[in-house]
Amino acid sequence: MGNLNDKSFSISGSNLIKIAASVFLVMGLNTNPAAAENIGHEGFETVYHIYNGGNYVGAVSEEEKVEELVDAKVAETEQEFQGLNLEPDESFNMIAEQVFEPAVKNEEEILAALDEELDIKASTFALTLDGKVIAQLEDRAAYDETLRQVLLAYASPEELDQWEANKRISEGLPELEAGETRITLIDIEDDLAGMSDQAAPADVSTPEAAAALLLEEKDIKVTVEKQEKVKEGIKFETVEKEDKELFIGKSKVEQEGKEGEKEVVYTVTETGGEQSEREAVEEEVTAEPVEKVVLNGVKELPSVGTGKFVWPAQGGYISSKKGPRWGREHKGIDIAQPDGFDILAADHGVVKAAGADGTFGNRVIIDHGNGYETIYAHLKTIDVKVGDKVPQGTKIGVMGTTGRSTGIHLHFEISKNGATLNPLDYIKQ
Ligand SMILES: [Zn+2]
Repeated sequence: MGNLNDKSFSISGSNLIKIAASVFLVMGLNTNPAAAENIGHEGFETVYHIYNGGNYVGAVSEEEKVEELVDAKVAETEQEFQGLNLEPDESFNMIAEQVFEPAVKNEEEILAALDEELDIKASTFALTLDGKVIAQLEDRAAYDETLRQVLLAYASPEELDQWEANKRISEGLPELEAGETRITLIDIEDDLAGMSDQAAPADVSTPEAAAALLLEEKDIKVTVEKQEKVKEGIKFETVEKEDKELFIGKSKVEQEGKEGEKEVVYTVTETGGEQSEREAVEEEVTAEPVEKVVLNGVKELPSVGTGKFVWPAQGGYISSKKGPRWGREHKGIDIAQPDGFDILAADHGVVKAAGADGTFGNRVIIDHGNGYETIYAHLKTIDVKVGDKVPQGTKIGVMGTTGRSTGIHLHFEISKNGATLNPLDYIKQ
């Protein structure tokens, strides 16, 4: 062993440190007492050679003094940098040597020099980009967390956890449920790596800061591919059909439409700085849509009356009959207090007149094409115009009290070939 030491010392410069460090791997702070005993011979004593920063500092006889010094410096640094794993700079080394005649001098000075120049470092895990250290993390866990923070710019924590868990599943993954997303690929184009290292305690970054550096300054290229399954509605179509029973211009819904439903799997690719791509890769219809069917009337509008008349209002009662009233002839009947206010054509016909007419107010005249005409007066509003074909029962306006009228009512007249008839001979409520 003595020879080995001699050999070590015959090598100069930085090589010395390297070889010494490899031979005395367990030395340094934790100098192995067993090793010292093994090489102890009668008459020999141990001295401890101290190296720091690539330089030989000197030799001391008691390693405990050096250990105390180092411990004190670590404790001092710890006050400012809590939580870090602190240790002497890696260039610091202490090598034991068995010597016959100890030649330790100025031990106090050597310790003072060491105290002056020894750096306390944090043991770190360095983050490298393209082989260059760009950040120092506290440990491997902090390095992993840094990469996770980077990925959180592209995926939710739940998605990343699932991604990690899925890696451990060897057989096929279960099918996605609607509403679920799953990461299928994560690719970091840049050459990111990590390695054990040392750094000044003040230079140790948080994972968040290191991730921000990668994302914002280093502009690393990350691609995250996900699959997501979503439920989507399927619009229903509207089909129009002709209905010979319905008058032209009328339509009705024969069947209400209903949206269908499908489950679609999308592949979403998010690449840093670029717009994400979303592509449907799978589609399954879970409910077919129901088409809406609309019937359109094609039946010609009858313009010639039947000669039979229907009640021209929605219920109501006869508040005044035809006959002499207030010294003159009341040529029709009045219908008041109806259930609803629609005024209806009493028989098929064509609108002959529609508009304001003196004491009648808003009134409509229908020519039934068979000699009959009917008049509807005092309407609030009119829904038809001259020339309109109005089948029996068509709404032609709304009951009102326009013109000379004492309240809301319909004044209704029937005539044939110009001769006024008594409506009550033709209509029944
Ligand atoms: Zn009247």
